[in-house]
Amino acid sequence: MARLKDKIILVTGASDGIGKVMAQSYAQQGAILILHGRNGEKLQAVADEIYQITGQMPELIVLDFLSATMQDYQQIYQNLALKFKCLDGVLHNAGILGLREHLIDYPADIWQDVMQVNVQAPLFLTQALLPLLKQSISASVIFTSSGVGRAVRAKWGAYSLSKIATEQICQLLHLENQYDNIRYNCINPGATRTAMRAMAFPDENPDSLVTAEQLVPRYIWLMSDESRDIAGQSIDAQTW
Ligand code: NDP
Repeated sequence: MARLKDKIILVTGASDGIGKVMAQSYAQQGAILILHGRNGEKLQAVADEIYQITGQMPELIVLDFLSATMQDYQQIYQNLALKFKCLDGVLHNAGILGLREHLIDYPADIWQDVMQVNVQAPLFLTQALLPLLKQSISASVIFTSSGVGRAVRAKWGAYSLSKIATEQICQLLHLENQYDNIRYNCINPGATRTAMRAMAFPDENPDSLVTAEQLVPRYIWLMSDESRDIAGQSIDAQTW
């Protein structure tokens, strides 16, 4: 049975890694997909694959979060509002690693990039999309955390602090939530075989890691109405 039938879901960072796999799995569960990425060609390739499987072409949003402004987020809202009556889910998945460097030596420009992509973009995109989320019967907004988003770890610099901020933003949105139909949660994928993980641990054997495909059940559950009572939680995707 399709567990996300006719749900309208936006996945950010859908061009690669975990986001790509989750976009495909959500589409396979009957969702109507809106794919975000910064690279139009990569994103179109993912959309084409989804079309081959489901017969439905996803909506595409091409935007580099590094340079995104509040006007860009408003524009996304306005474009989506012309096509969709509501938004039932957002998977805030796009993220960057920055540098594995001591905080005392951390370069300011990379700090700003990490905060822009990992913190500002999901928050301000959520703000902009709120009118559409409010129109859903039951909306699930999922922020992507990390093991280093629960407690700082040496040489994880801006990345760790950005994920701690993400966890706290999710908490605050939950605490201040004014709409019964919207729930905010975090998901921590855990060590997963992707380009980002390889960048963080270049000497690691990728075969020792779980694949994004293995995380699919948890991501579908958190997006679907099966987890309707779950709000303000931080979920580990590898604990099931
Ligand atoms: P990948 O690097 O494989 O994919 C990241 C995605 O984000 C890609 O689609 C990428 O686009 C997009 N992206 C990167 N920078 C930008 C930008 N400036 N603007 C818009 N989109 C951008 O990472 P993962 O799949 O591994 O990570 C997904 C999420 O999971 C991240 O939030 C990460 O922090 C988190 N995470 C991952 C873990 C892991 O072990 N893999 C562990 C814990 C958390 P493009 O294809 O163009 O590069």
